[in-house]
Amino acid sequence: MHIEAITASDIAWQEQALCAQTGADFFFPEPGSSVREAKRICALCDSRSACLEYALANDERFGVWGGLSEKERMRLRRSEENG
Ligand code: SF4
Repeated sequence: MHIEAITASDIAWQEQALCAQTGADFFFPEPGSSVREAKRICALCDSRSACLEYALANDERFGVWGGLSEKERMRLRRSEENG
């Protein structure tokens, strides 16, 4: 993302992000490893819906965002496009 595209609302949810406290390792696991821990943290995160919206809007391809894995986001995106 270009720095001038960042707005206050983009940043507000990141300040509440639980993953900022736990570190990024859970959220960008090696291919094939479990995302269960990341999803468990996302489930407790107040920023979950803003985070997911951000990931979908910015076409984030890697890692867990808003409690959804890459594959789950792709599926959601497809179902939104078809619905
Ligand atoms: S929903 Fe998950 S990935 Fe998104 S900010 Fe919260 S903890 Fe991080």
